[in-house]
Amino acid sequence: MNINKNIIIIIIIFIFFKIPFSIAKESLTLSYENIDLTLKGNFIQGGLVIGKTNLNSFIIFKNKKIRQTPDGLFVIGFGRDHPETASLSLEINKELITKSFKIKQRIYKTQKINGLQKKMVTPPKSFYERIIRENKAIKEVRDLDSNLDFVFQKFNWPTQGVISGVFGSQRILNGKPKRPHYGIDIAAKKGTTVVAPTESIVKMAEKDLYYTGGTIMLDHGHGVTSVFSHLSSINVKVGDKVLKNQKIGEVGSTGRSTGPHLDWRVNWFDQRLDPLLLLEN
Ligand SMILES: [Zn+2]
Repeated sequence: MNINKNIIIIIIIFIFFKIPFSIAKESLTLSYENIDLTLKGNFIQGGLVIGKTNLNSFIIFKNKKIRQTPDGLFVIGFGRDHPETASLSLEINKELITKSFKIKQRIYKTQKINGLQKKMVTPPKSFYERIIRENKAIKEVRDLDSNLDFVFQKFNWPTQGVISGVFGSQRILNGKPKRPHYGIDIAAKKGTTVVAPTESIVKMAEKDLYYTGGTIMLDHGHGVTSVFSHLSSINVKVGDKVLKNQKIGEVGSTGRSTGPHLDWRVNWFDQRLDPLLLLEN
């Protein structure tokens, strides 16, 4: 009897943890006094939500005043470790009214990667200055709050290949627990074309960064940026406007990488988003 009970519990746990999270977009209407504000997207860690209000007022999320288009469109994002509750505030008649809603919590995989060069797992001190400088340049792009409205377009796959790494997985490099993986990895042959997932402005085009090697950053607007890493070649320069599906570079294995693949990350300011959620909607 006890054995059966244990088996049932194990099966329940297995089903619970193995069922993939729902990726369907959801809609939520938040009412502030007599004003309705609609949110549509993925209310889950790593998700992006598009909001709309016809009211010309301030929207505050994560202590940030949120940019709106003239039509009242805006975006908010929920990072990898976003807590279960999110709060959005609207300023009406100089009064701040706050509403809360739920964010689905995810369970992340653990990924072990061995055989990396030692200097790539724990960089030698002599590289610290360079790494700090490069991280600062990346952060400056992520902090951009441009009025580009490309983020409201549907996102396309930036390259063709096999997904070899998913969003959020905890990484253990050569046996050492490291920061989680924030992008998706798409394994493809060196030289495979990489295209822009939406219309964008190029904000970084670097041949050789310490961790990410050949790196392109695109601004999609309203705080949403993409980072493409480990590229073997770069076909754009900073300031270029690129169209959706326009070639920007080629897959490679530059920087901290064990084989040719495209690492694609999407950010909403300092929040890391799951690129797969943008694609599957
Ligand atoms: Zn990666």
